[in-house]
Amino acid sequence: MHDNSFKRRDFIKLLSLGGAALGVGMTAPTVIGTTARGTLLASREEYGNFTVEQSRIEGFPYQVDPDVLRPMSEKFTTFSRNVWSPERREALAEAENITYKNLVEGRGRVPDQTRLDYALMAAAWTYAQSDGITYRWDGPSGMVRGSGLGSMGKWDPADIDMTWEDATRAVKHASLFFGASLAGVAELNPLWLYSDHFAPQRNDRERTIPVLAEGERYEKTDEAWYIPRSLNRVIALAFEEDYYAIANSPGRLASAATGNGYSRMAVTASTLAEFIRGLGFRALPAGNGLGPSIPVAIDAGLGELGRLGLLITPKYGPRVRLAKVITDMPLLPDAPIRFGVTEFCESCMLCAVDCPSRSITEGPRTWEGRSPANNPGVYKWYVTPEGCYDFNGFSCSNCKRVCPFTKPNNSWLHRLIRKAIEGRISPLNNVMVTMDQASGYGRQLSDREFWRRDGHKTITAREKM
Ligand code: SF4
Ligand code: SF4
Repeated sequence: MHDNSFKRRDFIKLLSLGGAALGVGMTAPTVIGTTARGTLLASREEYGNFTVEQSRIEGFPYQVDPDVLRPMSEKFTTFSRNVWSPERREALAEAENITYKNLVEGRGRVPDQTRLDYALMAAAWTYAQSDGITYRWDGPSGMVRGSGLGSMGKWDPADIDMTWEDATRAVKHASLFFGASLAGVAELNPLWLYSDHFAPQRNDRERTIPVLAEGERYEKTDEAWYIPRSLNRVIALAFEEDYYAIANSPGRLASAATGNGYSRMAVTASTLAEFIRGLGFRALPAGNGLGPSIPVAIDAGLGELGRLGLLITPKYGPRVRLAKVITDMPLLPDAPIRFGVTEFCESCMLCAVDCPSRSITEGPRTWEGRSPANNPGVYKWYVTPEGCYDFNGFSCSNCKRVCPFTKPNNSWLHRLIRKAIEGRISPLNNVMVTMDQASGYGRQLSDREFWRRDGHKTITAREKM
């Protein structure tokens, strides 16, 4: 009989040691000071060139109205409304024409889109669309295929002289191993689970079923989805999108970057869930499903919310896609971080100005949403995602392209922003936005320029700055 526990033990230990020693994104950040609110950390691997402030304060890292903020129904997301709302269905029919106009006739047109671009885009979406294989609530037969690891009870790190801190590092390391660019852990706030799952039927396009917590019941039925409260941890995963493909926005290459992100989300989150099941715990992977990913990623310390309505990470800016794995594995949560995004966005309007669908506001933050897809109760910049959806489907990433945080690391802007943040010098922000534009950063890259790159090794000296 095989001694599976021995193999598993060694494997986990190796993963943890690898995380600590090899530094594959998991080297502990350096503490460089403290503030009234938290600890200042630097880590080139995790935070790029930014110094971040890791919060020591309990609660939300942004302003919330507890009387208003409630779990949202999935029915009101743009994707769901596209199915049941007559208004949306009408807009979608028109949107197809808009897409044609944008790409072929004029606005936002990339003159030399070729079959090469379309092939890259189509291929990039492959695994995002493989329903049934990914985002399963249980692994094949409820255990790791063939090995039976999942049926051996819950793994305890103490068995191999590890702590839960080591185990948490190992799980984050496994996340990167399976393809994530960033991973963090948070306590799961039930506010970030949809109250209802959108489940349309042929004769009832508006049908939803409630998401409930009843004891340890863990199952999907036709009447409800049951997710027990014991699944109280969430691993937030971020996937970098290719800088040069995003720079082609609103061309097809930007859609390829988006599709590639969605495919990697599905594969990585599902594989990570299998890894956790192999350790005897429950694991529920999700991309956009189950609940909004951005607040989860903020809770897990991956970044801050920007004016463009997306997560902005220190290392990749908004150039990421997000997924998550909900689990009962008692991982140690990270704390939210700040690195000056909100302050910078107050003066910078680049994303709003360059948004062809006017989905991003140039106005101040508000408490109320601007669309049925918004969940009110948070003081922030609300975007109108349906406007975004209707402009070019998934091809547009103009807001990501022009955002100063999108730039590759080591840019002069990163260094200046870092200084401004450390010193809280907000007047510098306007100067930096002007300099950023003057540098030509954020311009649209043609597909020929993208394809001429040799595996992205030909980054010019100027781009490296
Ligand atoms: S919000 Fe949508 S339409 Fe506007 S710039 Fe961003 S991706 Fe484009
Ligand atoms: S473009 Fe400017 S305003 Fe928009 S998210 Fe980026 S930094 Fe904030």
